[in-house]
Amino acid sequence: MPYAKLLMMAVSIALTPFPFLSCASNGEDQHARVHSAKEAAAVTTIDGKHTSKSGYDITRLDEARIEHLAQKLSPEERSILLDQATEQAFCGGLLDTKEKGAYMCRLCGLPLFTSKAKFNSGTGWPSFFQPVDSAHIHNHRDADHGMDRTEIQCARCRSHLGHVFEDGPQPTGLRYCLNSAALQFHADGTELPRESRPIALKTAYFAGGCFWGIEDRFQKVPGVLDAVSGYMGGPVAHPTYRQVCSGETGHAEAVRLTYDASVVSYVELLAWFFKLHDPTQLNRQGPDIGSQYRSAIFASDEEQLKEAEVYIRKLDGSAQLRGRKIVTRLERAGTFYEAEPYHQNYHAKHGGSCPLP
Ligand SMILES: [Zn+2]
Repeated sequence: MPYAKLLMMAVSIALTPFPFLSCASNGEDQHARVHSAKEAAAVTTIDGKHTSKSGYDITRLDEARIEHLAQKLSPEERSILLDQATEQAFCGGLLDTKEKGAYMCRLCGLPLFTSKAKFNSGTGWPSFFQPVDSAHIHNHRDADHGMDRTEIQCARCRSHLGHVFEDGPQPTGLRYCLNSAALQFHADGTELPRESRPIALKTAYFAGGCFWGIEDRFQKVPGVLDAVSGYMGGPVAHPTYRQVCSGETGHAEAVRLTYDASVVSYVELLAWFFKLHDPTQLNRQGPDIGSQYRSAIFASDEEQLKEAEVYIRKLDGSAQLRGRKIVTRLERAGTFYEAEPYHQNYHAKHGGSCPLP
């Protein structure tokens, strides 16, 4: 065989390393092996909200939200994402995309794959050897059409993406076979929409009277993932509710907020805090009297401290306060002691609410 012809064959094989593979047919039972090959997905759960190891909110979207998002889809995208259709081979818009960037779920925006894991499988569908984070992909056994395959879905919105097979290249040996229409490509350097950005978990501490009410109201603020009632600001270690009630521990009834700074800023939380209690009452909130009911901000870092200082300065003397002075104490956060379990989510469990000032 002439050398030039040999060379051309070698080039052609190199360009299409998996010429006989497809998304549409694979009779082999590989479901269990795909599962065992998949690394265990690490997920953190706070108050029912799930965060992937790479820092994305992967909490399941409800039907109403999915239907709302689906309004932007074309009929073809809808049939693929929501009705498990498969686009024709070699027809998808992202098959030959070689630019550096990330591939998001077209419906909900969750990052699913990056250009670093894309390869030419020769099948006619965009192929990847691993996802951004294994927790972003939900594997689902698909026994339709007389085959036993593993369907892949977006973990957050459960849209149909394609299938995964065990004949991919190293390092994973997996081939994630995607419909272009299920993906949205974002080139590196372009600004990502909020739904495609990792969540930025931060902590804030506020004291504004009885913690049942402050905790209950902050739980409802968008971007607040969790609010916990506890004690802070005094020297007594591991105080009990009884001790704090005596007013002799130095602690205030406080709440610890875990929030997503990409959704709600600290300044916005400050605005909520001053709306949710009366910062002009010294060592009391309405009928609750004593230093344990004082108004206080416990800043987690220098930035929060500065933002709170500026916020108080602006609010103090504003017409909104009608001549009254803010008595909120601003200090650096010390140790937060969680209150007894029966204080947590008190209003959510028992009903009722504390009146707003
Ligand atoms: Zn999705």
